Amino acid sequence: MITSPAFSGKRYAILGLARSGMAAAEALLASGAQVTAWDRQEEPREALAGRAEIADLLTLDLTGYDAVVVSPGVPLNTHPIVERAARFGVPVIGDIELFAQARADLPPHRVIGITGTNGKSTTTALTTHILEQAGVPCRMGGNIGLPILGEDPLTPNNNGAGVYVLELSSYQIDLTRSLACEAAVLLNVTPDHLDRYDGFEGYAFSKSRLMAMQGTGQFAVFGCQDATTRAFREAAAERRPHGLAVCLEPQKLADMQQDWPALQGPHNLQNAAAAITLAEAMGVTPDQWEPAMQSFAGLPHRMEVVCTHDDVLFINDSKATNAASAAPALAAWPAGSSPRIHWIVGGLAKEDGLGECEGQLPNVAAAYTIGEAGPRFAELLQGRVPVEQCELICEAVKQAAEAAKPGDVVLLAPACASFDQFRDFEKRGEHFRQIVGAITGCDLPEGHELSLAKPLFAGGQTP
Ligand code: ADP
Repeated sequence: MITSPAFSGKRYAILGLARSGMAAAEALLASGAQVTAWDRQEEPREALAGRAEIADLLTLDLTGYDAVVVSPGVPLNTHPIVERAARFGVPVIGDIELFAQARADLPPHRVIGITGTNGKSTTTALTTHILEQAGVPCRMGGNIGLPILGEDPLTPNNNGAGVYVLELSSYQIDLTRSLACEAAVLLNVTPDHLDRYDGFEGYAFSKSRLMAMQGTGQFAVFGCQDATTRAFREAAAERRPHGLAVCLEPQKLADMQQDWPALQGPHNLQNAAAAITLAEAMGVTPDQWEPAMQSFAGLPHRMEVVCTHDDVLFINDSKATNAASAAPALAAWPAGSSPRIHWIVGGLAKEDGLGECEGQLPNVAAAYTIGEAGPRFAELLQGRVPVEQCELICEAVKQAAEAAKPGDVVLLAPACASFDQFRDFEKRGEHFRQIVGAITGCDLPEGHELSLAKPLFAGGQTP
């Protein structure tokens, strides 16, 4: 666990005792701070009873508190804790800010921050994999894996060459004031989670704060494929010496991508470019990153290769919960003489229409609709590609596997949330893997070693 003398003797109120809140409570207590904590559920309150004061923060006198630490799942635009903390003049922060404040007392190290609407987890895991393969001591945390305060700190190493790699959602950035990353990337910004922000501008501004917190001598990287990210890059370049605010150039890597099995599709070329740029900024050389790109296993439920059977590839992209994230998957296997993708689509619709998937229909050999939105997708796709209305994933996989020819791809990229039939996208993806295993008789690869559980409050979504 990461502790710090900076917290000793101070008072903190913690709201939300899911993963990151509980890790913050433990880290603060171990650092010698006084903690008052609250969660609407009894179980986590009990876990702290006797060590922390348990009290509802909305009725608590916050005089003398140094900060209110809230879970990223607490909506800052509507939750009354924000006004209450302001009334007592107490800052509202999150666990990443605590980490930022602890940095001065940690052995010398560097921090990489990764944000964007899509691709954060993939880029974070890939960057960590490259650093590990290159022998750079590192820890991965934030919105992926363990909360960062729950990690063992990097020990003194190699003149501070060690790296903390942080995936940061916009909610986490909103609760952070002083994290100056030695290198940071903003992958892309497209409309999402607008219920938590004052329109798209508010959401985009939140993402850009990751770079605003950096010093002018620190390295900032931008996806530059959307106008918003490009504008942020220009603003960042004005504040920095030449060469420290760069656009990614994924096309330069295009020739190599065929050798990276877990990084197919145009979106993954961008993620790969981001990870390589960040790793090179940490001193990693091409000789070191090239083999790491080939050995990267990918993340569960993101373009995950389930198996190849009779020369048909089965891909689980259950994390593609909207059209913008399903479209790159459909672009990953372009039609040659004929389209190759058997597309399993549907679930709980987030938007009406095919969105960015529209432009990829020429790559679709047939669509197999599932879930509540199945009939609507069937309507939208009818007459444009062959459609089978399946309702259930098992039926869809069965029909797709029967229809697929050697060289084809059976792709679960639902473009929808999972909650009509599953607890979350992970359960949906797991179900798909099992059905594929049962129907094809493939030996499924072992489960991934990475725990990707997200803070409970975030409901499995990553802003
Ligand atoms: P996040 O952590 O930001 O949600 P993930 O790496 O988990 O990102 O990917 C989420 C979904 O978005 C997946 O379906 C994936 O195929 C798609 N995706 C990944 N990277 C990108 C990108 N750079 N641009 C657009 N979509 C992407």
